[in-house]
Order: sequence, then C-alpha cells, then structure tokens
Amino acid sequence: LQIPRRIVQEMLAQAVAELPNECCGLLAGCVADGLGRVVQRYPLVNAAASPKEYLSQPESMFAAHRDMLGRGLDIMAIYHSHPTSDPIPSRSDHERNYSPNVVNIIISLKASEPSLRGWWLADGKHQEAEWDVIEEDL
Ligand SMILES: [Zn+2]
Repeated sequence: LQIPRRIVQEMLAQAVAELPNECCGLLAGCVADGLGRVVQRYPLVNAAASPKEYLSQPESMFAAHRDMLGRGLDIMAIYHSHPTSDPIPSRSDHERNYSPNVVNIIISLKASEPSLRGWWLADGKHQEAEWDVIEEDL
C-alpha cells in the first residue's frame, strides 16, 4: 500500500486535533499492478467520542462511500488513533473489524513522536501490513 506523505501528515494532524479522543477515517484509492495506492482521505466522525474507542458515525461513512463510488475509488485502509497506547490493535478493534481485506492503520500519540503501524485483522489475530510513504501526489 502506498500512501502520499501529505495524507499521512493530514492523518497525524487529525489525530492531534481530536485529542483527547480517538479519531477515525478512511483512505481510498485504487489498485494497479497488484499495488494499492491511496489518493483520497475521508476523515470520519467518531460517534463514540471517546479516548478509548472509536465508532465510525454512519452518516459520515455513507457520505465517504458515495463520494468514492462517484470517483471510482475503493477503500484501501481504515485508520484510527490511540491517544495513550501503542499502535497495536485492541480487543474492540478486533471485535469491530471493518473488513479482513482492508488495512487497519493505527496512529499512536503515546510518545512525543507519533508512530503509525498498519495491520491486517482477521479471526482475532493481527499481522503487520506493508505500506510505504510516497512523495508523489496524484
Ligand atoms: Zn484501536
């Protein structure tokens, strides 16, 4: 999965802006030659408004899906932040897994430098997903 640097920075900014709560959102793009490339970020409303969990507000989810459909984009990743814990999927992240086919990005703000990790979640297990930051913007 390739993510433009600008979109990574926007995710980090959103995570900081929504402190002390978790933030959430979607990354959409397309797959070419077996490689997914993100072109668009959709910040979602965390309906849980909690520092410990997130719940994507359905209205913001539908609006993102509608826009993706119109642009011919697919969901590449879903992201959320962990304001005070490591970027490792929690039990509720497993329970609320959006899809085993979409990368779960977790932004940790626990340390002074934020860290991001991507995961594939399935059957209560998580496996690190490969992703790269790319400089080029589409
Ligand atoms: Zn989480």
